[in-house]
Amino acid sequence: MTTINPKAPVLVTGASGYIASWIVKYLLEAGHTVHGAVRDPAKKSGLEHLHALSKQHPDRLKLFKADLLVQGSYDAAMEGCELVMHTASPFVISGFSDSMEALVRPALEGTRNVLEGANRVSSVKRIVLTSSVVAIHGDNIDSLNVPNNTFTEEHWNSTSTADHQPYPYSKTVAEREAWAINSKQSRWDMVTINPGLVLGPTLTKSSDSASMGIMKQLVGGMMFPAAPHLQMGLVDVRDVATAHIKAGYTSTAKGRHITSAGNPTMLQLGKLLRKRFGNKYLFPFMQAPKAMIWLIAPLAGMTRKYISLNVGYPTRFDASKSQRELGMKYRTTEETVCDHFQQMLNDGVIKRRG
Ligand code: NAP
Repeated sequence: MTTINPKAPVLVTGASGYIASWIVKYLLEAGHTVHGAVRDPAKKSGLEHLHALSKQHPDRLKLFKADLLVQGSYDAAMEGCELVMHTASPFVISGFSDSMEALVRPALEGTRNVLEGANRVSSVKRIVLTSSVVAIHGDNIDSLNVPNNTFTEEHWNSTSTADHQPYPYSKTVAEREAWAINSKQSRWDMVTINPGLVLGPTLTKSSDSASMGIMKQLVGGMMFPAAPHLQMGLVDVRDVATAHIKAGYTSTAKGRHITSAGNPTMLQLGKLLRKRFGNKYLFPFMQAPKAMIWLIAPLAGMTRKYISLNVGYPTRFDASKSQRELGMKYRTTEETVCDHFQQMLNDGVIKRRG
C-alpha cells in the first residue's frame, strides 16, 4: 500500500509527448502540481500546448531540462515529488539505421537513469512506468502459444531482438531493467501501464510518436482499398493518461496493467471510419491477401519477416486487471479513431472532401 500526498508535485518525464501531454493536462485539472521534464524547455516550438496549460493553471506546471542519456539529469525535477510518471522513450518504427542508438539505448539507459535518480531522491514513493503490450508479446504468431490467443500481464516478450522488432525489444529490456532496479530497494514501489496501440486526439502537433504515422497510413490511402489482417490491442490516449493517474493514486495498485479497449484489425478500423465519415475518404474496405502484402512490404518500410510473423494471427489482450484494480472504463474504438480522424480533418492533416 502506497499513499501519495496529492499536494506533492508529480514528475512527468517526456512531458511534451503525445501521451504525456494528456497526463499533464489531467493532473493539472485534478489540482496537482506538475514537474514536466523535457529535453529543451527553451525551445521555440513544440511546447506551445504546455505553455497554454501553464497559463490555464498558474504556478502549477514547472518545466525542467532533462535527457534520458545524461546521467542524473532528472534528479532536480524529482526533488519533492512522491510520484514519478516515466513516459519518455522513443516510439519510432522506421527512419533509423542503428536501432541500438535510436531506440534501445535511450529506452534502457534512460529508464536506469530515471530509476537510479529515484534511489537518490528520498521523496519518491511510487514510479508509474509507461511500458507497452510489446513488452508482453513480440510477434502476433506468439499468440499461438497462449490460451485463447490472449495475452495477460503474466506474459513477457521473448522473441524480439535489436534486429527484429527493435521497438518491442527496447520496451522489453527497459521494463525488465525497471523491475530489477525496483526489486533492489523498498522505499518506492512501481506500477506499469502496458498500453496497446494508442490513438485518439493529440494536444501537440510536434510529437514523433509512431501513433501519428500509423493513423496517417490507415486514413491517408496507403491501405486503400485493402488492409492487411493485422490485429492489435488498441486504446484511447485519454484513457491511457487516466490509467497512469489511477495507477499513481490508487494505494493498492501493483504490478503490470494492460490498457486496451479492444483488439481490432486495420480493416475493422477502416470500417468504423467509413460508417461515420462515408465513402469519400480512402479508408480500407477489404482485406489484402497476405502474399501480396509480403511481396510489397519493403516498399512500405516493413520487413517480409515482420509480415510472415504478424499478419493473419489472432491476437488479443486481456485488460480486465486494469478495469478491476484501477477502475478503468475504456472509450469505444469507434470513438477513439473517429475523434482522431476528426482532428486530422480540423487541422488540415487530411483534406476535407465533399
Ligand atoms: P512521443 O510523443 O514521441 O513521446 C516520447 C517522449 O519521449 C517525447 O516527449 C520525447 O521528448 C521523449 N524522449 C525521446 N528521447 C528522449 C531523450 N533522449 N531524452 C529525453 N526525452 C526523450 O510518443 P508517445 O506515443 O507519447 O510515447 C510515450 C511513451 O508511451 C513511450 O514510452 C512509448 O514507448 C509508450 N507507448 C506508446 C504507445 C503508442 O501507441 N503511442 C503504446 C504503448 C506505449 P522530445 O519531445 O524532447 O522529443
